[in-house]
Amino acid sequence: MNIAIIGSGLTGTLAAISLAKAGSIVDLYERLSDEELANRERTYAITHSSRKILEKIGIWSHVVSDFVAFEYLNVIDKNINKNVQFVVNDLMPKDHKYSSVGWIAEHNKIMSKLLEVISDIENINKIPTSVIPNTNNYDLIIAADGINSITRQKLKTPSFKFNYDQSCITAKVLLRGVKPTEAFEILNIDGPFAVLPLGGDSFQIICSLSKKKCSYYMSLPKSSFLDYLSTILPYGIQPDTLINEPKAYPIRFLLNYSFHSGKYIYLGETSHAFHPVGGQGLNLCWRDVDYLTNLIKSPLLRNKKILIPLLYSMSRIFDILSISFLTDSLVRYSTANYKITFILRKFIFLILKRSRLARKFILNTMTNGL
Ligand SMILES: Cc1cc2nc3c(=O)[nH]c(=O)nc-3n(C[C@H](O)[C@H](O)[C@H](O)COP(=O)(O)OP(=O)(O)OC[C@H]3O[C@@H](n4cnc5c(N)ncnc54)[C@H](O)[C@@H]3O)c2cc1C
Repeated sequence: MNIAIIGSGLTGTLAAISLAKAGSIVDLYERLSDEELANRERTYAITHSSRKILEKIGIWSHVVSDFVAFEYLNVIDKNINKNVQFVVNDLMPKDHKYSSVGWIAEHNKIMSKLLEVISDIENINKIPTSVIPNTNNYDLIIAADGINSITRQKLKTPSFKFNYDQSCITAKVLLRGVKPTEAFEILNIDGPFAVLPLGGDSFQIICSLSKKKCSYYMSLPKSSFLDYLSTILPYGIQPDTLINEPKAYPIRFLLNYSFHSGKYIYLGETSHAFHPVGGQGLNLCWRDVDYLTNLIKSPLLRNKKILIPLLYSMSRIFDILSISFLTDSLVRYSTANYKITFILRKFIFLILKRSRLARKFILNTMTNGL
C-alpha cells in the first residue's frame, strides 16, 4: 500500500516503521528537523503493551537499553493516608521474565533511536514539509499531527474537548531515601503527582495542580520549590537538588467522535489526549499503530483497502473510551475531598492490599489495556 503519514512525533514515527516493515511504501511528512523532533523535555512511562508492540516490530532490543526499568509501583492516597505497592508478581505470569512493572523513557533518547531506525528502512521517504502535493497518490493518509491537528480541522472532524482546571509541572530532581527502581503515583488533593525513576538518584516529577497554584509554585525560588516537593513526597524521601528548570504546561482532554474521515485515519494525540495520570498517553498512541498494522497486514482486507479506515475506527473505540474514562476518573478521585467518599477509598485500598487478584486486575488493565 502507498501510505502518507502527516507528523513524525512518536506516533507517526512508530507508524512509519511498523507499516514499512509490514510492506507498505510510506511517505512521512514532518515540518520539524530531526534535531527539533528529539529536543523535547518529556518523560514517558512505557507499559508492557508498548513492550510487546516494539518486540513485534523487531526494535525492542534496540531501544530498551535507553529505558529505565522499575520493579515497584507505589500508589499512595494522601487524603486517607493509605498506600499499595504493585510488584512484578502482580503482572501476568508471561510478563514476569522481564522483571519490570514498566519502564521510563526520556523523549530525546527514544525519539533519536526511532529516527535512527527509520534511516535504515528503504521504503520510508521523509518529506520535510506539511503539504501533501497530491492526495490521490495514496491508498491511505494517516494524520499523526498531534493535539492541534490541522488535518482534523481541515476535514472538520468533530471532537469532544475541554481544558482541565489544572496544569502540569515537570522537573528532574535528585532524591534521597528512595530505591532507583521505584515509581510513585501519589493521589494528592491538588491533583495526581508522579515520581518516575531516571537511573541512580535522578527522578522525573510530574505534578498536576490547579492553574493558580501552578503559577505560584513556578514563581518560587528553587529552594522553596524543593520544600514544596518535600510536603508531597512520602515520609523519608527528601528532594536534594533540581537538575533542570521546572516547566509547566496546560492539561487538555480531547476525544474525536470518529477516528477516520474518508481515507484519512487519525492516530495518536490527533484523536485522543488525556491527563498524564497513570502514564497512559503514549502507550495508547502506540496501540493505535498496532491495531492499524494488524488491519493492513490482514489477508482478508488485501482487496478491500477501502474498508480499513472504518474498521480501524470501530476497532479502537473500546480501548480509547475505557482508558479515557479510567484516566479522567483517577483525576476526579484524586481531587475529590468529600469525607463521605473516604470510607469507600479506604475499602478500595484494603481490597488492593489484601487481594493479589485485585492488584493483578488493576495492574494488567493499566499495562495492557482492557
Ligand atoms: C507539552 C507536552 C508535554 C507532555 N509531556 C508528557 C509527559 O511528560 N509524559 C507523557 O507520557 N506524555 C506527555 N505528553 C503527551 C505525549 O507527548 C503524547 O502522548 C505523545 O507525544 C503523542 O505523540 P504524537 O506523535 O501523537 O503527537 P506529537 O508528539 O504532538 O507529534 C505530532 C507531530 O506532528 C507534526 N506536525 C504537526 N502539524 C503538522 C503538519 N501540518 N505537517 C507536518 N507535520 C506536522 C509536529 O511537528 C509533531 O512532530 C506531553 C504532551 C505535551 C503537549
